[in-house]
Amino acid sequence: MLNKELYEKTCVKAYEYLVKAGIAVTEEERKNMEVAEYGLNDLDNIGLELIVYINTMRCCAKELILFPGQTCPEHRHPSIAGELGKEETFRCRWGKVFLYVQGAPAKQPKAAAPKGRENCFTVWHEIELNPGDQYTLEPSTLHWFQAGPDGAVVSEFSTRSRDEFDIYTDPDINPALNRKA
Ligand code: ZN
Repeated sequence: MLNKELYEKTCVKAYEYLVKAGIAVTEEERKNMEVAEYGLNDLDNIGLELIVYINTMRCCAKELILFPGQTCPEHRHPSIAGELGKEETFRCRWGKVFLYVQGAPAKQPKAAAPKGRENCFTVWHEIELNPGDQYTLEPSTLHWFQAGPDGAVVSEFSTRSRDEFDIYTDPDINPALNRKA
């Protein structure tokens, strides 16, 4: 689990990326930054930092910060009680991100699955997002993403977010731990 010291250190570092990206946030938003480490204790490789701007019954907007090479593990957003799963649009604001979705796999992917967890990354259709590029994911489709060598800041626009229902390919991931410390 993330301890307070690591959480605070990580938030300070993540905030520097927002500054580099020229993205202004309030003191309150900065204080409420979340660090997702998925209960894996491997934050340098698997995890992300985020600020939730809004999450209502109908829409959600977040800023995601990924350190160099940091990976958001493969998952999907299923339908819940007849309600279609989350539709997500990722827009790169700063740095570079490699997004992987279902479809024809890249012959030479630019990202690598985190060591020891290669089996938990099964979709390899590659979409490279540079600043100003965006991509929309249909509900319930598998996806994962990894920052390039400088890290990345990515805006996420979506329908309602209910992280606790997300389904991860990695059986070691507990979505309930996808929270700040
Ligand atoms: Zn997602």
